[in-house]
Amino acid sequence: MTVERVLLAQPRGYCAGVEMAIKALAWMVRVFEPPVYCYHEIVHNRLVVDRFGDLGVVFVDDVDEVPAGAPLMLSAHGSAPEVVTTARSRDRFVVNAVCPLVTKVHHEAKVRSEKGYTVLYVGHAGHDEAIGTLAVAPDAIELVEHEEDLDRVLPDVRDSSKVALLAQTTLSLHDWEGIMDRTREQFPELWTATRNDLCFATTNRQAALTAIASRADAVVVIGSANSSNTIALTKVARSAGRPVVLRVDGPDELDVDALRGARVVGVTAGASAPEDLVQAVIAELGPSEGVEAVHVTDEDEYFPPPRELRELVPALDGLAALVVGGDPVAARKRGGPFSDDRGVDASQVLADLAR
Ligand code: SF4
Repeated sequence: MTVERVLLAQPRGYCAGVEMAIKALAWMVRVFEPPVYCYHEIVHNRLVVDRFGDLGVVFVDDVDEVPAGAPLMLSAHGSAPEVVTTARSRDRFVVNAVCPLVTKVHHEAKVRSEKGYTVLYVGHAGHDEAIGTLAVAPDAIELVEHEEDLDRVLPDVRDSSKVALLAQTTLSLHDWEGIMDRTREQFPELWTATRNDLCFATTNRQAALTAIASRADAVVVIGSANSSNTIALTKVARSAGRPVVLRVDGPDELDVDALRGARVVGVTAGASAPEDLVQAVIAELGPSEGVEAVHVTDEDEYFPPPRELRELVPALDGLAALVVGGDPVAARKRGGPFSDDRGVDASQVLADLAR
């Protein structure tokens, strides 16, 4: 490889929802005796899942596999309502780490279906987030994966004044817009969320990649193959006309032959990819003229821990005070080291746990 410069997209990598989910599972690992169970991959990133696996977290695809009384986390992608109900049975301590922006789409699906709308949901068949959302109102929602699917679902609409179009939060804007335009053409009264359901993290990462793609000879997107927003980033790079677009989990997957001749390489990472992987990929690329960060927007969104952990935190602060001979009641009121969730970084938490 003869890479001269890396253009590094900003923002990239962990979003607020992934930060929240990783920190929440780290809490579970620290507080409970192993094994801690997690329904579905906590986030769709191989390294993150492997690191938690090494810490004794057992990932399951069926909550019935989780023994009675065991601690159980539900993943950031959101779970079907009946999964949440089943999870909470049998005295398990359940923490639901669903991203609030996925919960918002579940709410839209529920409200629109109860109002008699035909709900079209643009998403990927078989993806955890899509499965969870479709299960909110299975009789009223139709999955639309590709624009051609509209030929099948649109003729079945009963009331043209009551059609809603929702979306998986991690789609590429390009995929969403084509389906939205065609549906609105047929149903001018179409209901959608104010802008759309694509989350801020998805759209910000796509905008940052768009800003570097046209200047790069090749683009490297760091993230796992089952990460929807990572795949969306590869589509953005391709639609910007980049001839070489590589998706890699980490530096060991870089295709040196494909990058031969690329002098400027754009680098970004999906919302569940850790920053240490980004740095490792850059080190492998070894740009002779260094790295140029291309900043598109700041992200200061913060999602607090899931409700079940928020209730646990004061007790932990009290316990920590007790251990060092302090006043547990005062510590509960005042807050202690466990209360400073916002000031804690998920990458650091995961690295500290692995030590
Ligand atoms: S990508 Fe968006 S919806 Fe998904 S976890 Fe992150 S903030 Fe939430």
